[in-house]
Amino acid sequence: MTDTDSEHRVLAPLLDVCADIYRRGWAENHAGNLSYRLSDAELDEFPLDGSGPVLPLEEPFPELAGNSYLVTAAGSPFRLLIKDPRTHCGIVRVGEDGASLAVLWGFAGGRRPTSELPAHLRGHIAQAAQDGEHTVVLHCHPTYVVAMTHVHPLDEVALTRALWATNSESILALPRGVGLLPWMVCGTDTIGIESADKLREFGVVIWAHHGVLASGASGQAVLGTVESLEKSAQTWLLTRGEGQQEITVPQLRDLATAFGIESPAGFLD
Ligand SMILES: [Zn+2]
Repeated sequence: MTDTDSEHRVLAPLLDVCADIYRRGWAENHAGNLSYRLSDAELDEFPLDGSGPVLPLEEPFPELAGNSYLVTAAGSPFRLLIKDPRTHCGIVRVGEDGASLAVLWGFAGGRRPTSELPAHLRGHIAQAAQDGEHTVVLHCHPTYVVAMTHVHPLDEVALTRALWATNSESILALPRGVGLLPWMVCGTDTIGIESADKLREFGVVIWAHHGVLASGASGQAVLGTVESLEKSAQTWLLTRGEGQQEITVPQLRDLATAFGIESPAGFLD
């Protein structure tokens, strides 16, 4: 590690999550990106001299003015993050007009924030409106989830039910269900806007034939969500075509009642 102890206290939990995601095979090559809303106290742990570049935002985000985020760099592999965080991630602050990002730390060698940053920032806006607890937005490529979008009908309710039906704890880990978007070009405003709507409703959205975008109160929380989603998708694929039985809708209703889960309207009809 080249960072100081105080920086390390903030960075380590997030870098550990990125390394874990890489080891699981969900962030191959340059895939995967993460953003984290920093508190003022956490920001104080970093030496900030104000000499970094200011990057324009194509689409202004006045709702986020003054907020600071730790963001992974475009083209930076998750496997290298923990070895050289100053190069492969950085801290940006949204300008007071919401139209620019000041680089406060990191992004050494002229690196820039992930190209999926618009989706992340819209995700942070959506989650701030929903519940101020969510600080992390993560994108990665969980293998079985992506594979399932090639063979399961791209219907949000049917896909959620198929996932819930694989394991009694699936509905507990994904109580709001799972959002689903059809294939679309990544890194665009369109996918950012539609993903934010899904994050507001579900907290996790599958991008067909690509991956997932998920938010959570911490790196571990969001990793847990994706882990549960991936396990259910893996089980569904392993039993596809051969399963003789599964958890039924009445049984899912029993689980929802037992654990006080209010599933989205129409998901357990
Ligand atoms: Zn991706």
